Amino acid sequence: MKLLSFKFDGQVKFGPKVKKEEAVWDVLAIQETLQVLPSFPSTIIEGISLGFDFVEQTRKLVDAAQKSENADQYKHTFKEIEWLSPIPRTPKNIMCIGKNYNEHAKEMGADAAPEHLMVFTKSPTAIAADEATLPVHANKTSMLDYEGELAVVIGKRGKEIPKGMAYDYVFGYTIGNDLTARDLQSKHKQFFLGKSLEGTCPLGPYLVSKDEIPDPHVLSVVTKVNGEVRQNGSTKDMMFSVAELISTLSQHVTLEPGDVILTGTPAGVGKGMTPPTFLNAGDEVKISIEGIGTLTNRFA
Ligand code: MG
Repeated sequence: MKLLSFKFDGQVKFGPKVKKEEAVWDVLAIQETLQVLPSFPSTIIEGISLGFDFVEQTRKLVDAAQKSENADQYKHTFKEIEWLSPIPRTPKNIMCIGKNYNEHAKEMGADAAPEHLMVFTKSPTAIAADEATLPVHANKTSMLDYEGELAVVIGKRGKEIPKGMAYDYVFGYTIGNDLTARDLQSKHKQFFLGKSLEGTCPLGPYLVSKDEIPDPHVLSVVTKVNGEVRQNGSTKDMMFSVAELISTLSQHVTLEPGDVILTGTPAGVGKGMTPPTFLNAGDEVKISIEGIGTLTNRFA
C-alpha cells in the first residue's frame, strides 16, 4: 500500500493513493461518515504502530467507500491537496548512515567504507515534502549537496533487536534526500548543523508498506539534477544491510514507530564531481527508487 500524508481544508490527513488515479482516499472522512470500524487511528504514526493491521484497516475503509453511494466524495485529487512528508514529524532525530556505499566513501576522500557504522542525525525540523520548493540557504552555505537515499520507516518500538528479527520492526520505506551543507559539515566538528538546515530532509512521496518491497536490497536509486543523471546506484551495494542498521542502532537507542533511518547514498554526489558542483537556486532534484516513486524538489 502506498500511503501519503497531506493537508486538506487546513487539516493534516493521511490515506492510500487511489489505484490508477492521481488522487488519495480520505480514510479519516470515510471512517467519520460511514463508521466502518470500531476505531481508527487519527495520525499516521498511530496507524503504523499497528503494523500490518493498519494496512488491513485502511483497505476495509477503502472497500466500504467503493461500495457506498458516492465513492468520489472520499477522494481528493492531487491538485486539491498540499503534500506533506509521509511522516510529517519523526519522534526523534532522523538517524542517518554515512558512507554506506564503497564508491561514495571513495568519492568523499576515504579509502573505503568504515569498518563500523558511521551514524549521525538530522533535526526533525529539517523534514520537508515532495514537490516543496526548498531554500538553498545562500546566507549560510555555498555548498548545498544532494544525497538520494532509501529511507526505512520503523513501525514497532524495540531495543537490542537481533539482526534476524529486524524486518519485524520495519513498517515500510520511502525516499529521502539527505541534503547537506558541506562547508558547515566540515567547519563544525560534527555533522548536525550541516545536516539540519530547514528543508534539508525531504521525504516522500509515498510511504510504501513493506509487503510491497519484500527485499530492500534490489532497488535502483537514481538522482537527477535538472534532468541530468548524477547518481545511478542500487541498494544491493550497501555495505551494511537494512537489518544490520536496525540491529546496531537499536543496541544503543530505542527505536519507535515513525522513526526514520536514512540508509546512506550511492556515489555521484556534487562534492565528488570535478569540479565539485553544488545546488543553486532554480535547480530541480529528482530521486527515484524502484517500487516507491520519485521525490521531486526545486530550490530557490
Ligand atoms: Mg547521507
